[in-house]
Amino acid sequence: MVVGNREQNIRRIIEMEDRICQCERCPSLVKCLRKPSMGKGELDPEALLVFEYENIFTRDINNIIKLRNIIKQEFELDKIYHTFMVRCQPKACTTRQSVNCYGQGKWIDKDYTCLLNNKACDGIPVRPGTGEIISCLPFLLEEIEILHPMYLFLFGERVAEFVLKSYGIYHGFTVNKRYQYEQMIFLTSVNEDEFRRDNCHQLVSIISV
Ligand code: SF4
Repeated sequence: MVVGNREQNIRRIIEMEDRICQCERCPSLVKCLRKPSMGKGELDPEALLVFEYENIFTRDINNIIKLRNIIKQEFELDKIYHTFMVRCQPKACTTRQSVNCYGQGKWIDKDYTCLLNNKACDGIPVRPGTGEIISCLPFLLEEIEILHPMYLFLFGERVAEFVLKSYGIYHGFTVNKRYQYEQMIFLTSVNEDEFRRDNCHQLVSIISV
């Protein structure tokens, strides 16, 4: 990486994160969210890990560290960054479903108390819908463009499908495949919670063919 790019990347990522924090493209999601999920890690990464959304697995930093270490060891890399295809965590909630006007402000306070019923939020995390993925995808593509890693690990078939289609690749959204776009190598993987050393071995074997 050219000297100075890291500082430039930091500036651009911070500026993008400000826009993510102010984004209201998915009004039903932001109402019940305190903070969107942001990328973390080295800002001049050799590998970028992309998860679909922040779930129970990715919320546990120990899981992320373990997964990163497997990739570091097997791919002999040092610098890794991870991020999410959808930044705002969708929740299923009966209280929210009964409201049909969004109005101003959040519906949840800093202690995660629901302002609609004055009880602790009991929304159940669910996977994002297609509309939410499409709305949020530009942030991920911008992040990839800023960081421009050598390897992109796409965890889960949905991440593979939406990211690869964005780069004009319309086939083969199965796991353990390799695609190249400019100098970046995209690797499709099983879901993050199923990823073991064996899966990583398989990915190592397909980059060397
Ligand atoms: S999920 Fe993404 S596009 Fe939707 S409101 Fe959050 S940041 Fe914006």
